Amino acid sequence: MAASSPFDLMQLDSLFPKESLQLRDQTREMINKDFLPQINENFENEVFPTKAVKSFAEAKLFGPTIQGYGCLGTDHNTYGLLMQEIERCDSGLRSFASVQGALCMYPIYKFGKKPIKDKYLEAMAKGDVIGCFGLTEPEHGSNPSGMTTTATKRGDTWILNGHKRWLTNGLISDLAVIWAKNDDGKVNGFVIPSKTRGMNLKAIPHRWSLRASVSAELELVDVEVDESHRLDIEGLKGPFSCLNLARFGIGWGALGAAQACFEETLCYTKQRSQFANKPLAGHQLIQAKLVEIFTDITTGQLLSFRTGQLLDAGDLAAQAVSMAKMNNVSKSLKAARLCRDMLGANGVTLQYHVGRHLMNLETVNTYEGTEDIHRLILGQFITGENAFL
Ligand SMILES: Cc1cc2nc3c(=O)[nH]c(=O)nc-3n(C[C@H](O)[C@H](O)[C@H](O)COP(=O)(O)OP(=O)(O)OC[C@H]3O[C@@H](n4cnc5c(N)ncnc54)[C@H](O)[C@@H]3O)c2cc1C
Repeated sequence: MAASSPFDLMQLDSLFPKESLQLRDQTREMINKDFLPQINENFENEVFPTKAVKSFAEAKLFGPTIQGYGCLGTDHNTYGLLMQEIERCDSGLRSFASVQGALCMYPIYKFGKKPIKDKYLEAMAKGDVIGCFGLTEPEHGSNPSGMTTTATKRGDTWILNGHKRWLTNGLISDLAVIWAKNDDGKVNGFVIPSKTRGMNLKAIPHRWSLRASVSAELELVDVEVDESHRLDIEGLKGPFSCLNLARFGIGWGALGAAQACFEETLCYTKQRSQFANKPLAGHQLIQAKLVEIFTDITTGQLLSFRTGQLLDAGDLAAQAVSMAKMNNVSKSLKAARLCRDMLGANGVTLQYHVGRHLMNLETVNTYEGTEDIHRLILGQFITGENAFL
């Protein structure tokens, strides 16, 4: 909501420095001018707007929490605000930025060897190199510990074989961060140029969600990777630390989609009248739905804000990120469904944005840990009982 928004009931803006609000407003202006007018067409035609690569780089939207390498070096909540602004337009566009920043630049920054950081990070901040992230496999999604992609060491070279699926940015990528098991069954991460021999990327067609973003599957056949491109982290804490940052951004981002739905629906229900020439917005049941969405957005922002403060302090329990991701995405999905309902038949057309947000949020509720996987994480936290098995 704009800086002077009447909807900022909890005065969340007052918790941010002026520079963060300026960044947010600049991002909103750029997105509204350059992406929002075509986004429904992009979605309908399954086209990723490639101009996002340079525009987002110029706006410093890639890896904003990273210090140096041409990145913004900002705090986590400012990063969250930026993700919120991108997703106010489209979850697919936000996914593009999240994968580039949180899932590719962050692990290179955190666990990459110096020459690899020097080679890639600045180029990624400039949008000259685009990354994709391969953790999920066709048979192993919620439980990545079951992955069957292997990495075998021969001298200083690793040989990777396996199959990854659902790599956002896959076909537009220059490099892939791939997770595979070594001969001891330990998960390792590798930074692999996408054009390396044996890296076979293929589009996943016929999606009805995140259509303005690119999804690919990847077959790895005897892919050779030098030891210098292996990340210095072993075990699932490698991918999970990237997912934590991405999930935090998603918690903020999904609220952007919910805000877009809320604002479009509020405007629609004020203009459309049914029964006794009274605007829909004047009917109690419509107001009840609008109030529920408004409250969910506001409480979601407060939850994310506190999560960001704890992340800044280096004192965040992973379960707190699960709570923010689970709550904010499922509430945003519910908001989009309610908004679609309030637009009546018009809500199922691409003349409006709510239907697209609704379909996108189905993916957002599934990736980066499904809603129920986060529920199980929190269930274990409060009961001490493992209900995964
Ligand atoms: C558009 C899109 C983009 C994506 N981008 C990426 C990407 O860039 N990189 C990447 O690696 N992955 C990506 N993913 C994959 C995503 O992270 C996985 O889809 C997700 O982790 C869920 O895995 P799955 O689809 O195999 O579902 P499954 O794990 O098969 O789960 C199916 C259902 O079973 C439930 N379930 C699973 N285990 C349990 C249990 N123990 N108890 C109760 N219920 C359970 C789940 O909650 C879910 O409802 C993307 C997915 C989509 C749709």
